[in-house]
Amino acid sequence: MRDVLDIHTHTIASGHAYNTIYEMARSAAEKGVQLLGISDHGPAMEGSASKHYFRSSRCIPRELYGVKILFGCELNIVDLDGAVDLDETFSAALDYGIASMHDVCLTSGTEKENLHAYLKAMENPKVHVIGHPDDGAYPVDLGELAKAAADHGVMLELNEASVRLGSYRLNARPNAYRMLEACAKHGTQVLVSSDAHIERNILEHRHALEMLRETAFPEKLVVNRSTEALLAALQARR
Ligand SMILES: [Zn+2]
Ligand SMILES: [Zn+2]
Repeated sequence: MRDVLDIHTHTIASGHAYNTIYEMARSAAEKGVQLLGISDHGPAMEGSASKHYFRSSRCIPRELYGVKILFGCELNIVDLDGAVDLDETFSAALDYGIASMHDVCLTSGTEKENLHAYLKAMENPKVHVIGHPDDGAYPVDLGELAKAAADHGVMLELNEASVRLGSYRLNARPNAYRMLEACAKHGTQVLVSSDAHIERNILEHRHALEMLRETAFPEKLVVNRSTEALLAALQARR
């Protein structure tokens, strides 16, 4: 499968990542990436950018060094009712949103409560992707999640940082296998991403792509195959 894009990446604005947007874009160009998405952590993450950083983001060029650029946010799910940390006023300029659960912003509920939080987050039109739902620190019924994601036109993420060897996310590999099985069953679109916090990790999708091959996951459900496929998935949000 061709793999031409990466839209879960962090810049220095996230507070614990190490390159600027321009450095990330130049590196993406060198790697032959066609589309790079910048998704800095939302303001609820300690040390990340303020809500005004996201509000003012229309000024960021949507092409740099020949690479198409999208600017989004990795929104923090901040409560078990699925609220995220940027409201419409501050997210209007964004091209997309990835909604994720992080231990510094949310204490896990029960499996049922976590599912409810994800489902409510999916009702937010700024949420296009659920980030690393394989994180066992937030147990969830991945079958139900994949089914709901397909209904809403939301993508589920296969996150390289989760599935690589030595991942810090709990049970992430077995969970990711379960997630892929559920996505194939329900026709849920999958986004492969690096979660790069430094330029050299852009498009580092090795273990994730290996899992797709190993499970013979249907290529038509993987948006990384073309820029058009990703843009269509962002548009198809229901
Ligand atoms: Zn994350
Ligand atoms: Zn991230």
